[in-house]
Amino acid sequence: MDVLVTGGAGFIGSHLVKQLIRADDVSTVTVLDAITYAGHIENLSEELHSSRLTFVKGTILDKDLVDYYVQRNTVIVHLAAESHVDRSFYAASTFVMTNVLGTQILLNAAQRFGTERFVHVSTDEVYGPLSSGVATEGDPLRPTVPYAASKAASDLIALSYHQTFGVPVCVTRSSNNYGPCQHAEKIIPLFVTNLLRGEQVTLHGQGEHIRNWLHVEDNCRALELVLRKGVSGEIYNIGGGTDLTNKALTGRLLAECGADWGSVRYVPDRRSNDIRYAMDWSKIRALGFEPQRTLEDGLAETVDWYRRHPDRWPPVHRNPEAPKAELAVTTLAGA
Ligand code: NAD
Repeated sequence: MDVLVTGGAGFIGSHLVKQLIRADDVSTVTVLDAITYAGHIENLSEELHSSRLTFVKGTILDKDLVDYYVQRNTVIVHLAAESHVDRSFYAASTFVMTNVLGTQILLNAAQRFGTERFVHVSTDEVYGPLSSGVATEGDPLRPTVPYAASKAASDLIALSYHQTFGVPVCVTRSSNNYGPCQHAEKIIPLFVTNLLRGEQVTLHGQGEHIRNWLHVEDNCRALELVLRKGVSGEIYNIGGGTDLTNKALTGRLLAECGADWGSVRYVPDRRSNDIRYAMDWSKIRALGFEPQRTLEDGLAETVDWYRRHPDRWPPVHRNPEAPKAELAVTTLAGA
């Protein structure tokens, strides 16, 4: 199998590439990544030495480039996206361009060149907030923020390409991933790096928002399973992580980083912050998925990775007049 991984220099994509390159039946892996602010080529520093990996710096919005690489691969795992909720509050058009139009450009190429499997990687956030119960794959989509709305739109376009043109699409919707190599704007690396610097972290509201935390390697195992065994036209929720309020998560990170609650500052909630996501994941379990990583072990590994990689810490904004956009990025609550 020759696999095209879009967004393969990002957080989840790079873990998936590490996994795929070890698989006996994978002949080549081609990464197509624009290396936006969120892409880190160094996430693939070891893999770049492999003759089985081709790295292409380019955007999924470039139709000719996409055609060229889709034609030369048998399957696609599509992860390239704008992925940060807070940024979507002030740069929504970029989210629509990349997440919606970029996905459609890829699907169009997949249709024309007979791609054998198209795994479209999405998120639990498309279901919107649930005060109780769990979302199943057939539930209506009720996204509340531009990021989740752009992902929901891309899910529907992907499924329409299956329905209309027979493109063998599978959609995955996972809960929040954590682990090494994540861009430092997201809550776990942001909190960890602030705490390791001896600085405060900001918790929105009362820290009552609930997220399900899944180790990135578990998500990648599920993605590979869907790549191999998924049924075309189907959606797979990928859950099975640990449900935590942001406050409980903060408590664990304080303990891991040797800090206490004096390092936590409460701030008013952001303009839109879904209270809880929760999914039923029995369908992916029936396909053979079972998470293998524990939160204790995974968080310890993650904190250790950031301790050893100060090059991946976010810049410090000591100037209170720092651009608003940057401040929005450094004071966040959700992933
Ligand atoms: P990320 O932001 O770390 O990585 C995204 C990658 O896409 C980056 O390397 C970036 O350079 C690349 N990219 C952005 N725009 C591009 C473009 N126009 N063309 C080519 N490449 C482009 O994101 P992530 O956390 O690794 O998420 C990957 C996918 O998984 C996304 O689709 C996201 O919506 C989804 N997802 C993420 C999570 C999570 O917790 N991180 C949970 C569920 C779903």
